[in-house]
Order: sequence, then structure tokens, then C-alpha cells
Amino acid sequence: MKVIEKYNDSLHNPHWKFHLGPVVYEVKDTPRRVQAIKERLLEDPRFSLATAEIFPERHLTRLHPYHDYIRNTAESLRDGEEFYPDLFPGEGANLPRRVDTALQGGIWCTDAVTPIVHRTYEVAKASVDTALTAADMLATGSESMVYALCRPSGHHAGPRVFGGYCYFNNVATAADHLVNQGRVAIVDIDYHHGNGTQEFFDEQKAVFTASLHGDPTFEYPYFWGYAEEVGKGQAEGTNHNEPLPQNTECEQYLAALRRVVEAVRAFDPAYLIVAAGFDTHADDPIGGFALQTVDYREIARLLAELRKPTLICQEGGYNLKVLGECVHTFLDNFEETWQRGKIS
Ligand SMILES: [Zn+2]
Repeated sequence: MKVIEKYNDSLHNPHWKFHLGPVVYEVKDTPRRVQAIKERLLEDPRFSLATAEIFPERHLTRLHPYHDYIRNTAESLRDGEEFYPDLFPGEGANLPRRVDTALQGGIWCTDAVTPIVHRTYEVAKASVDTALTAADMLATGSESMVYALCRPSGHHAGPRVFGGYCYFNNVATAADHLVNQGRVAIVDIDYHHGNGTQEFFDEQKAVFTASLHGDPTFEYPYFWGYAEEVGKGQAEGTNHNEPLPQNTECEQYLAALRRVVEAVRAFDPAYLIVAAGFDTHADDPIGGFALQTVDYREIARLLAELRKPTLICQEGGYNLKVLGECVHTFLDNFEETWQRGKIS
């Protein structure tokens, strides 16, 4: 399987965040995540690496109204500085016409765990370009499945606000690129609900979105991800949420995934995008499910059986000891199931 990696080094490397009040000096989303995945995949000669291309900015700017805020703020910082907004005007505020400077960041960012550093804009754009490069390979038919090794993740970045370690939405930008050629289904298997992705396509019936995640009554992002969110207006019925309890194990997870797969099959997309987070693993320091590494075999098989041209896009997963093996298990079984289907 082709693996698309970013064209820049991971220069976005924040060192602290706020956590329920106090500052903590431990950030889980480190560049070492990408290294761990890449090292494991390249031990297997069936995976080959290609570098992402640079796409025009318009792919990103047309979806993310806060792109200038992120770029301007990043440019205003020196190396080593980390910026969090400290002014949150809330709804009903008399917003100025110009809302793209550091001072006004509270309009755009939902939390205090997603800082901007000097290189954030270019690194987040490279992450989008990685997904777009992979999407283009599907669109041209040169590949039928591609893995985009994105970082930062994207699924919490939406059409109004960003947060949750995410700046620009990689899978949403890829779907926006592909939907000109046919309908797209996005299945988000990260432990956290893909609220940004859902909101992008809430009213668009050509893109089906589904997410399996920790129930938002107890888990981030808290305000989205409930089962009754099914899409709006003409797009009603094109969003499917599976909120799951703490310590969900494989059997219960697979039952939910089968429901999602059936819904995707009924939608019959031209392309499938998997927002692939591995913080569902039992040993993940952030997630609260109880999946084991071996469980990603069956998860991959169920998705591969849809037999659609598929973009697999990296989202979360924070245990460096198991992350590479989880990704390898998933991709290996996805490809094997796909190839087996081709022969039979
Ligand atoms: Zn996550």
C-alpha cells in the first residue's frame, strides 16, 4: 500500500497546554507519533513511501474561515513561543469585521489544548496536502487504497471553529476535493467524535458521515456526537453517530461498526474515507475503550469489504509503544481483504 508522508518535518511541537485549569507540560500529540508509525510500516516491504505534493491554498481556505487567523498568529510568534487565546467574546458579541489577528483568537478556537506555534500554519497545511495527494491518487485511479500519514489530525476542526489538537480538517478537505467526482462516505473510527467533519457536511447530502466514539456525555468533544444528530434539511439521514460506553470491547465495537458499514453500503458512495484514530486501544493514555491491537484486523476487514476506493487518513492514537503496530495491523488487513475480494 502507498503511504503518503508530509513534505515538511514535524515543526509543530507544542510543549504545554492547560488541563482542567493548571498548565501541564506533557503534550501527547508529538512528532514521535509519525516516526513510530513510519518506522513500523517501513519494516514491511509491501508498504512504499511517497511524499505529499504542495496544493494551492484555495483547497484549504475555502473551507476554513480561520485560516488567516492561524497564519497571522503563527507568523507573529518567535520560535519556542506558544499562543493560546485569552479572550472569548461568546455569542451575541459585536464582532469586528477583521477577525484574523492573535487578539481575536477566542472567536475561532474552542479550547486551551490547541496552541499555535511559529510553524503551525505550514505544518497543518502540509497535513491537508498529504490527504489531498492521497485523494488525487484515488481520483485518477492510480491507487484504489492509500494511507495518508497526517499530523496534526483534523477531525475536530470545523467550518466555524477549530480545537482538539486539530487546525484544518484533512478528511473534510479531501472529501470536498473528491465529491466533484462522486459521493463520499467518511467513517471516523477515532476514539473521539469527529465533530468538525460532521459539521462540515451536516447539510450536504452528497457526503455521508459516520463516527464511532466515546459517548459525549462523558467524553470530549461533549457538545457533539449524540445519536440523534442525523444531518439537517435535505441532508437528513446522512450522518450516523455511534456513541459507545467507557471500556467498550471488541464485540460491542464491531456490532456498532456493522451498523455503520450497512448505512454506508446503503448510501453507496463512490469513495470511502476512513478517519483512522487508534486512541481506541486499551493502552491509549487519552482514550477510554478496551480494544486490543489484534481487534483492528476485523475492524479493517469490515471496512475493506465495502470495496470502495479508500483513503485512510491518520487521526489520533497516542501510545507510542502500540501505535505503529495498530496502524500496521489495520492497513495490512484492509489491503489483504480488498485483494482477496478482487480475486473471488
Ligand atoms: Zn481522538
